Amino acid sequence: MPLPPHTDIELAELIKSIRAAGYLKSASVEKALRAVPRHLFVPKQLTAMAYRDCPLSIGHGQTISQPSTVVAMTEALQPKRGQKILEVGAGSGWQAGLLGHIVGPKGMVWTIERIIELVKMAKHNLKAAGIKNVHVIHGDGSMGLPNHAPFDRIIVTAACPKIPPLLTTQLKPKGRMVIPVGDLYLQKMILLVRKSKDGFEQTELGNFMFVPLIGRYGFKPV
Ligand code: SAM
Repeated sequence: MPLPPHTDIELAELIKSIRAAGYLKSASVEKALRAVPRHLFVPKQLTAMAYRDCPLSIGHGQTISQPSTVVAMTEALQPKRGQKILEVGAGSGWQAGLLGHIVGPKGMVWTIERIIELVKMAKHNLKAAGIKNVHVIHGDGSMGLPNHAPFDRIIVTAACPKIPPLLTTQLKPKGRMVIPVGDLYLQKMILLVRKSKDGFEQTELGNFMFVPLIGRYGFKPV
């Protein structure tokens, strides 16, 4: 399929601005941004806006996150080749696709989504982008994915009232979790590092705004 006009220029500008803002640091994340094109993960009518640094509607009241936020979270997560990663909140599949590219063919990403239409959309988008090592699963990600645990990395891309307890138990020793925690209006991005079986180190990475995590250990549906 031909690229939408000016894609290369717009992507280069976006990468430059996210780097200048201090979010983009590593070569692996930059390579993933180039290899997993965001325009394949936004609704067709929004293709022209795919390389703007803003969240976009993907339908069903949900969004594909802002590129600088996705980069900030991915850098904090420090994904490595060959790792097993869990994402909660597949949405469009873009974040999972970037992680799939970084972990490579020997790694694996599982991403959970509660809205079945978005599960189908994420699968379709990932296939279009040629990503083969991401499994999109329908369910309540606030309970994690015990059948495939433990994970090297866990990333939650929806706002949580508190850190879901089952997610921490599914993190490997030395594992890292990045998760926005707060109320429905504003959240603090938390980096959680598992130092030992019961020892976790918690760092705050600033304020963000996400759509809510709805589920057993999330917010209740309205
Ligand atoms: N990571 C996504 C991307 O790259 O497009 C964006 C995620 S969007 C900001 C948050 C997603 O979390 C929504 O698609 C929403 O339906 C989903 N979600 C909310 N609660 C969930 C839950 N308990 N389990 C799984 N997904 C959930």
